[in-house]
Amino acid sequence: MAFELPALPYAYDALEPYVDAQTMHLHHDKHHQTYTDNANAAVAKVPPLAGKSAEEILINLATVPEEFRGPIRNNVGGFYNHELFWNIMGPNGGAPAGKLAEAIKSTFGDLAQLQEKINDAGAKQFGSGWTWLALGKDGLHVLSSANQDSPLSQGLYPVLGNDVWEHAYYLKYQNRRAEYLKAWWNVVNWAKVGERYEAALKR
Ligand code: MN
Repeated sequence: MAFELPALPYAYDALEPYVDAQTMHLHHDKHHQTYTDNANAAVAKVPPLAGKSAEEILINLATVPEEFRGPIRNNVGGFYNHELFWNIMGPNGGAPAGKLAEAIKSTFGDLAQLQEKINDAGAKQFGSGWTWLALGKDGLHVLSSANQDSPLSQGLYPVLGNDVWEHAYYLKYQNRRAEYLKAWWNVVNWAKVGERYEAALKR
């Protein structure tokens, strides 16, 4: 079972003006395709991983023989992170509801404080990486990661993530990562984030 590039769940220009259509084309059709192809190539070198999901592989990353682990971390991570990313965005954002809204309130005070923490983690991530909201055994955490490293490999389940690689924002925002981080909240699909959170609670 090979990894396959998932179709975008909306049109390329659906996130305009916050995320431009050209960035979406390059990011999805080129970058994500490359991670997908390279993930398949990396997994093909480690027969025990055949048929496993990206999630399963990343949760158990430490068990991958060290000589193969780097390309698995980078490319299975890149495959998984981008699939998550497309799915938690959309043109009709809404607001956190239900259990997710309650957890945001009890953990961070309110949504604005959570957003500030995620933006701050993303702004401070040196070089390429991600900024995350993730669920651990003790509740919600904000963290950043380098490259395509997934919170899954640290025992955390990613509920929401924003891509802070320059390829995610450079065409429109150039070097202004903080501006991108702020604008990105306009395209977060909170219903999808809530679904991920509820699924994570049941794990
Ligand atoms: Mn990316």
